[in-house]
Amino acid sequence: MGGDSSLTPRSGFSTRAIHAGQKPDPSTGAVVTPIYQTSTYAQAALGKNQGFEYARTHNATRAALEGNLAALEGGRHGLCFASGLAATSTLIHTLSAGDHVVAGDNLYGGTYRQFSRVMSRFGVEFTFVPSADVDALERAFRPNTRFLYVETPTNPMMQLTDLAEVARRAHAHRIRVVVDNTFMTPYFQRPLELGCDVVLHSVTKYLNGHSDLIGGALITSDDELAEKLRFLQNAIGAVPGPMDCWLALRGTKTLAVRMERHDANARALAQLLAERLGPQRVFYPGLPSHPQHALAKRQATGFGGMISFVPGDGSLEAGRCVFDRFRLFTRAESLGGVESLVCHPASMTHASVPREARLAIGFADGLLRLSVGIEDLSDLRDDLVQALQAK
Ligand SMILES: *Cc1c(COP(=O)(O)O)cnc(C)c1O
Repeated sequence: MGGDSSLTPRSGFSTRAIHAGQKPDPSTGAVVTPIYQTSTYAQAALGKNQGFEYARTHNATRAALEGNLAALEGGRHGLCFASGLAATSTLIHTLSAGDHVVAGDNLYGGTYRQFSRVMSRFGVEFTFVPSADVDALERAFRPNTRFLYVETPTNPMMQLTDLAEVARRAHAHRIRVVVDNTFMTPYFQRPLELGCDVVLHSVTKYLNGHSDLIGGALITSDDELAEKLRFLQNAIGAVPGPMDCWLALRGTKTLAVRMERHDANARALAQLLAERLGPQRVFYPGLPSHPQHALAKRQATGFGGMISFVPGDGSLEAGRCVFDRFRLFTRAESLGGVESLVCHPASMTHASVPREARLAIGFADGLLRLSVGIEDLSDLRDDLVQALQAK
C-alpha cells in the first residue's frame, strides 16, 4: 500500500520526511495527500459522522502535516498553527495569571514582543536571561515557573544553550523546557531526544523552505500538555488553512537534501568571511573559533545555514555599504528558503531592540545576517566577495 503504513520505528529521517503522516487517499488512491479545502463535513444521520465535523477542529491535510512533523522531531503529538507566533501564543495560553516563564534574552523579536507586550498584560510573568548561561537560567527559576523558553542558536548572535543540561536542571524544579528549533530543524537537532519537552517551529522558514507561506507548529511527547494544546488549538482557533499545510508537506519531503546543501554552503561562506574579516567578527557555530563549537558538535549533527558577521568598523555605514552591494543575495527579512537572503537585523528584524541592549551582546550597528540558500556555491561566493569590496 505504501506511505505511512510502511514505516517502522527504524525508518530513517528522509523516509519519514517523505512518508510519515501520509498514506494514499482512501477514496481514490491518490499518492499525494489531497488539499481538503472544505469548512464542514456531511453527517449521515443525527450524531453520525466520519470523525470530521468542522474544519477548525479537524482537517485531514493538516492532520497529515501534524503527523509528519511529529515523526521528524520524534514526538508523539504534532499541532499546526497559522504562524510561528500563533503556536507561541497557544502554548502560553496553557498558563494562567500568576505563572512565570524564564526566557532567553535574545529571542526572535516577535516572540519577545508577544511576551513583553501581550502575554504580560494577562498576568503571566517573564524573566529574560542570557540563554547561553545555564547557571543564570537556573537562578531565575521561581516556585511559579512553568516554562523555560529558549532558542538555540540565537538570532543573530548564534549563541547556544546546552539543551540536555537545561532539561536536567529544569526538570529538577518541575519546569518544562520549550525549544524554538526553527534555525536547526529536526534534521540537525532534536530537542525532545535531548530531554526537552516541547519543540516550536516557525514552519514559514526551513520546514516549508520555499518562502511561500506562513505557518507554525508545536511538537511534544507530553500527553497531558498535548491534550491542553489540542483543546486550545480549537478553542483559540489560530489554525492554518489546508493549502498551506499541503505546501508545507511538499516542503518537508526535501528537508534533508536542502539542509545538507544549506549547511555545506554556509560552512564554506563562514570560512571565507572568517579569513577576510577575522574569526571574532563572524558568528557561526561551525567555525572552530565559535566559543561553543564543541557544544554545537555534541548536540546537533550540522550547523545550519545562518551566519552573522560584522563588516568594516562595525558602524551602520560600513554595514550599509556591504548590504547595498549584494546582487544575488536578496535584501529581505525572513530565512530558511532555497534562495539566499541578506538582512540588516538592527533596522529590520530587531528594530525594536534598544541600541544599548544590542551593543551589550556584541550586536554592532552594522552587523549583517545571511540566510545561505542552496544556489551554486561559486555564485554565492562571488557575490559575497564582491559585496565585501565595499569601501
Ligand atoms: C520567524 C520566526 C518566528 C515566528 O514565526 P512566524 O511564522 O513569522 O510567526 C519564531 N521564531 C523564530 C526563530 C523565527 O525565525
